[in-house]
Amino acid sequence: ETPVPSDIAISKKQTPKHISIVAQELGIHENEIEFFGHYKAKVNPKILNRLDQNNKTNGKYVLVAGITPTPLGEGKSTTTMGLVQALGAHLGKPAIANVRQPSMGPTFGVKGGAAGGGYAQVIPMDEFNMHLTGDIHAISAATNLLAAAIDTRMFHESTQKKDSVFYKRLIPVKKGTRTFTKSMLKRLAKLGINKTNPDDLTPEEINKFARLNINPDTITIKRVVDVNDRLLRQITIGQAPTEKGFTRQTGFDITVASELMAILALSKDLKDMRERIGRIVIGANFNNEPVTAEDVGVAGAVTALMKDAIKPNLMQSLEGTPVMVHAGPFANISIGASSVIADRIALKLVGSSSSLSSDKKTQDSGYVVTEAGFDFTMGGERFFNIKCRASGLSPDCVVLVSTVRALKLHGGAPDVKPGQPLPAEYVQENVDLVRKGAANLQKQIANAKQFGVPVVVAINKFESDTDAEVEAIKAAAKEAGAFDAVPSNHWAEGGKGAIDLAECVVEATAQPKNFEFLYDVDQSVEDKLTTIVQKMYGGAEIEISDLAQKKIDMYTKQGFGKLPICIAKTQYSLSHDPALKGVPTGFKFPIRDVRASIGAGYLYALAAEIQTIPGLSTAAGYLNVEVDEDGEIEGLF
Ligand code: ADP
Repeated sequence: ETPVPSDIAISKKQTPKHISIVAQELGIHENEIEFFGHYKAKVNPKILNRLDQNNKTNGKYVLVAGITPTPLGEGKSTTTMGLVQALGAHLGKPAIANVRQPSMGPTFGVKGGAAGGGYAQVIPMDEFNMHLTGDIHAISAATNLLAAAIDTRMFHESTQKKDSVFYKRLIPVKKGTRTFTKSMLKRLAKLGINKTNPDDLTPEEINKFARLNINPDTITIKRVVDVNDRLLRQITIGQAPTEKGFTRQTGFDITVASELMAILALSKDLKDMRERIGRIVIGANFNNEPVTAEDVGVAGAVTALMKDAIKPNLMQSLEGTPVMVHAGPFANISIGASSVIADRIALKLVGSSSSLSSDKKTQDSGYVVTEAGFDFTMGGERFFNIKCRASGLSPDCVVLVSTVRALKLHGGAPDVKPGQPLPAEYVQENVDLVRKGAANLQKQIANAKQFGVPVVVAINKFESDTDAEVEAIKAAAKEAGAFDAVPSNHWAEGGKGAIDLAECVVEATAQPKNFEFLYDVDQSVEDKLTTIVQKMYGGAEIEISDLAQKKIDMYTKQGFGKLPICIAKTQYSLSHDPALKGVPTGFKFPIRDVRASIGAGYLYALAAEIQTIPGLSTAAGYLNVEVDEDGEIEGLF
């Protein structure tokens, strides 16, 4: 249809299949699925036991990542959806898209950012964009419970001066006797106190055990809300008279920026999630020793609130192919990838089952296509160095999404802004700008190739692209060692427009790979940072601030120096400076601060002041949203 209708209009026009049919087509059994209305369901991770027993091998694992984008987005999500629609609905391959659940912050903030667009989308898109099955709400509740437990513990410790009295109040009474909880037993073991009867502790042991002595200035856990509520960035808590002067400055993050969201994405199973939640470092005591969620005694309850969120959500694409929606960590400070559990399940669901009596494959191996947020230097690098380390999986191919418009920007065309008309360079043919800008694509191809996997360049086609411009991208991609570069028209045509891309991906994933990480986690924090900056970003060296150095030294001393590192920077440049387009080199990369997500399992370094809760603009997305008397929503994208 021309012109292509709005995303919500396309989504509404298509009646989805009942989700039980999608589940059946995947071979999911009834007792492995929980329905949420007609078009959404949760898949129980227990399904893995059955699939493992059936001797299912993994399908092919495809990672969609992006070149350095324009502020308009170059279509990674749209390409992810178009590619699986082509694989599943047109080439007849088992294929699942694994995508992130969108945050409601951007949904009502800036337009765009949902899963796909045009004729390559997840449907129903309103259910996808709001609430889904409540995972983000569960994370909000769990994070806020953790935050409340920390402040309340400090409050009680400070108001209860006598150790013996505080200790007595702390230990719950079960069946008439004081009994340590499971968390308490873990804390005792950590402190080297080998006692199980609360009455046996000496006064010194009581002091050591009961007093967390949290230094309020070191607390890293904030309360969260999934709304772009900028006025909560800094707040003072404890102002009611009942808090007896126990006030403290803190703030809110957006829910998707919370460590629990990263934990949801990286956990292998529920047991692993429980352990990671216990390991969350909430801050330090006055001796500078780390204090964990386990120490606070709240890790079990936090996990209880997350026990359903750990089940991936099943939805479908516009062409009825399966989509798993799960987790959605903020791509700027976190890993920006969907969950390890969803990938594990999907890879097995589309894998081939060799029957036990012979090695004859009973089913063609299929494809799982997932996405890394932001550009390759961010989402892509973290996908490999952090997510793949957590999952033990590695992609069989990277699809690098590229557009004519982004290469024109890197070639020297003026900057583009959302909501503003495009400058003339973007609507008229200009092969020269594309050729110049292709250096950025070539560097990102080289970046992806460092991990030892084949790289396919997807040229996401826009209406104004000309054949000569597309040819220029193809030539540059081949020169840089891409497996191939394929124009794709899924936005306007759905899966049909991505058949060439899908065929190329089938071929690329059959190539041998030589997967390797970029760095060894045993290197020092400084060395790991230098490796990423030099090998990925093309910088000369790192420049560590005094604050960042202090933090690096502290985390190393606390025993956290051997974790992978997530670097928070801009996605609008290979460097830290969004103004540096193309392929900047020789820059000094600033490390301003270093923080820790020990439960999630990484340190993160900040190259810029990163907002962990965005704001709403004057022309915010919510202004367009309406609902009619039948509950039909309009104005969402
Ligand atoms: P990313 O995932 O890289 O941020 P998206 O897939 O979300 O990008 O796409 C960004 C926006 O651009 C969306 O609103 C999408 O509908 C639109 N878009 C993507 N591809 C095209 C295309 N080929 N033509 C027109 N609009 C497109």
